[in-house]
Amino acid sequence: MDPFYPLLQTLPSWFICSLFIPHLLVRDLIDPTSFSWNISLLAELFPVVVVKEIRKIHISPFFKPKSLFWSSSKSGTFSTKSAYLTDCSSRIDNAFNANTFPWKSLWTAKLHNRHKLFLWRIIHNILPTRSKLSIFLPSIPTQCPLCDSLPESVDHIFINCVFIKQLFFISNWNFSLESFNNYTIKDWLALILKKNGGVFPSNIIREKFLVTVAVFFYAIWTNRNLITHGLPPVSLQDLLPIVTNKATSHWTSQLACALKAGKHISQQWSKPPVGWYKINSDCSFINGTASAAFIIRNFNGSIVYAHSSMYHCHDSTMAESFAIRDACSFIKRANIKNAIFEADCLNAILYINDDTPQSHWPSSPLIDEIKRYWSLWPKWKFKFCPRNSNLSAHNLARWAFNLNWNGVVSSSFIPISCFCDIGYPLVDSFIHD
Ligand SMILES: [Zn+2]
Repeated sequence: MDPFYPLLQTLPSWFICSLFIPHLLVRDLIDPTSFSWNISLLAELFPVVVVKEIRKIHISPFFKPKSLFWSSSKSGTFSTKSAYLTDCSSRIDNAFNANTFPWKSLWTAKLHNRHKLFLWRIIHNILPTRSKLSIFLPSIPTQCPLCDSLPESVDHIFINCVFIKQLFFISNWNFSLESFNNYTIKDWLALILKKNGGVFPSNIIREKFLVTVAVFFYAIWTNRNLITHGLPPVSLQDLLPIVTNKATSHWTSQLACALKAGKHISQQWSKPPVGWYKINSDCSFINGTASAAFIIRNFNGSIVYAHSSMYHCHDSTMAESFAIRDACSFIKRANIKNAIFEADCLNAILYINDDTPQSHWPSSPLIDEIKRYWSLWPKWKFKFCPRNSNLSAHNLARWAFNLNWNGVVSSSFIPISCFCDIGYPLVDSFIHD
């Protein structure tokens, strides 16, 4: 049985907390009218530290009862066709699925040819991993040379191994692979490679992330080869500056080529088109508490609304999801049809844009709420933006965290650091919900 709170293994989904009420369920701890935890009951039943953890779990007002989901179809409903295709793909995986992969995006990506070929080999699962070799050489050890804990396959070393997870997490992208545990590396690369997939605001940023992915994967494979040849591997701390520099130099040379070809490249914040609003959101997260802020600007670049709220959160992705959810809730109330939401949390934006159920459980109810709003206003767009084009929201969240701010930030209170993108006029008449 899944534990009630996955990170607190001592707290199972069922527990006896009182001899007088032996059959208390988790739902009994929730106030059904306000959709919030019954704090006084929690305090009565659990130690303070447990109550603090439980309060970080977000309860969605759009509670969905548990239901069966057919994971082989995007809609979640079963069909004979999808069952047939699943059966085929398990037997003739490469031959069948090859057609559905965005190959064109791979071959036209701004990547070194060596990296393109390497990604192609990963996608086709033709790298000589230990799991692969052991089919022909049963005496060979199958454990991953990097973590020595699980069998080495392409899915393991490039998405599940603790080594690649840490490398992405401590990199400039601060990207968590943790919630893609159920993905194959092929599906994950398809998600990242998809052009106009809505995840990245421009192909330039998508290409920049792809360069990082290719450089990291290549470095991981090289490091793994050192171990299999009996040589000492490069430690994570030593590897990070090497791969960061490599990714930067690869990217700079790709940018130079693009500039030579006369392309305009900008990673600064840009105004939305006429008639549209752009909502940038960000959070400040420290020790389980977060400020979740969003700032709305019109096509002049003028600020027309600013808001921040404090939350108990499990991690920064959850806090970022709170900020986007709050923004959606406001934009819906204000009846704004043309809205572009931007955040610098790639994980959250991927979850929102991906159809498959995602497994980052702390954010899951919030992402569901966001998708629910989005289904009402289908013209909305949710895009990733680099940190340097999200500075207004970033600065607002930091300011709000220090002041423990909850609610609208009126035009006279907006900190000066939020005007870094200089729209004109700086502030326009505020939107009212
Ligand atoms: Zn491993």
